[in-house]
Amino acid sequence: GRVTADEIRQAFLEFMAERGHVIIPRSPLIPHDDPTTLFTGSGMQPLLPYLLGAAHPAGGRLADSQTCLRVQDIEEVGDNRHTTFFEMLGNWSLGEYFKEEQIPQIWTFLTEKVGLDPDRIYVSCFSGDPAHGIPKDEEAAGIWTRLFTAAGVSTGTFDAGTEEHAAAVGTDGARIAFYGKKNWWCRGGSAADMPIGEPGGPDSEIFYLFPDVEHDPAYGANCHQNCDCGRFIELGNSVFMEYRKTETGFEELPRRNVDYGGGLARIAAAAMDSPDVFRITLLWPIVERLQELSGRSYDDETRAMRVVADHLRGAVFLAVDGVQPSNKAQGYVMRRLIRRAIRFAFDLGLEENFFAEVVPTISRIYEAHYPEVADHSEYVLRVLAKEEQAFRRTLRKGLKQLNAYRATGVTGRELFLLSDTFGFPVELSTEEARRQGIELSADWRAEFDEQLDAQRRRSQRTTTLHV
Ligand code: ATP
Ligand code: MG
Ligand code: MG
Ligand code: MG
Repeated sequence: GRVTADEIRQAFLEFMAERGHVIIPRSPLIPHDDPTTLFTGSGMQPLLPYLLGAAHPAGGRLADSQTCLRVQDIEEVGDNRHTTFFEMLGNWSLGEYFKEEQIPQIWTFLTEKVGLDPDRIYVSCFSGDPAHGIPKDEEAAGIWTRLFTAAGVSTGTFDAGTEEHAAAVGTDGARIAFYGKKNWWCRGGSAADMPIGEPGGPDSEIFYLFPDVEHDPAYGANCHQNCDCGRFIELGNSVFMEYRKTETGFEELPRRNVDYGGGLARIAAAAMDSPDVFRITLLWPIVERLQELSGRSYDDETRAMRVVADHLRGAVFLAVDGVQPSNKAQGYVMRRLIRRAIRFAFDLGLEENFFAEVVPTISRIYEAHYPEVADHSEYVLRVLAKEEQAFRRTLRKGLKQLNAYRATGVTGRELFLLSDTFGFPVELSTEEARRQGIELSADWRAEFDEQLDAQRRRSQRTTTLHV
């Protein structure tokens, strides 16, 4: 039968275990002890203290599948490869091995265990930073060249963006491309902004080519590894932490680390030769359920169904990890996911409560690997259904109200009213206004913030009076 995402996750963890990695459990979506970020957005994030030098209790070779949430990708949801919630397969070497072992290791996993076609794999490497004395990553490119050559596929290296690269793209020789900033890893910013003492290093990304996806010239004249058109899909990347910033430039770190992160959904999609991650076994049952409930087809309603499937799944995992819809921080994001799912479902003709029809499908998908989802399914449904009922009552009124501004356009004042009285998150009402062609005032954001501040001042006054 066809390879399922569950099988790929399992195969990855077994493959890494055979190579001496200890399999560690996922961290929750809400990081503890980290006030700087709302969600766990990568496999690396919970391991950062160890990558920076602390000893990990499980040793120097680790692997996992980490549940991630990237709200920053919310606008991308609807394309063929981004979801807000996803699983990242990860492996780490804390001073154990480096490029020489990592690159062939992930290559073997992808080509032999998953069975991907070596001829459709493309990679990127770091082009170097002469201003800071950091060399081009010829070492990684050399290892890749060896692997491609041994597999009998043609290969060449190019500096991305040069005329030679542009000419080679579209031919199978443009296998390895050197990029600058995109392939430099450090905490925040660039080599220039890094504080003295910080570690950093080059990164090498792995892409899979879907030749039948046509390049969209809207994304530039030439298609290449990092093109956003969706012809190349980034499967994963390895970060090689090998330098430390000094007063005068960069020096080699005494202990070099590897961080690899790969998207389970994208690898599973590549395994079934689909450029659409929603076709995989972790997402397709949700889409099928939406097709049944709405009587519409995925082909006609691709974007709406992708958004609903992704957002509901994300909200389910947030509930499992203890978040409740609210007006701040993680709870606000959860609320936004739920309300957006309801709004997009409305476009599918799903105008009545339907979460109860979809949440069990999500629980079933994850029950084998993340039993906590099925174990808490009644609770999760209660939390989600409550929010659904509350919002649905106001959705019609809110849409009607927004429509009343059609002739005049809306300012931040009205947007505030919509959010305050009708429970329309401002992101949703502005998105709605744009979708319906209702004009937004140029300063809506400032106007909205002004209203919000005024309200905060009012409520502070009230609290003070009570005290
Ligand atoms: P992209 O360029 O496609 O947005 P990225 O470079 O931002 O990906 P990384 O931070 O390198 O992603 O994360 C490691 C891997 O996790 C990616 O190679 C990809 O396979 C996967 N991934 C990242 N973001 C998403 C997402 N929003 N949905 C699904 N998978 C993702
Ligand atoms: Mg991204
Ligand atoms: Mg990328
Ligand atoms: Mg990447």
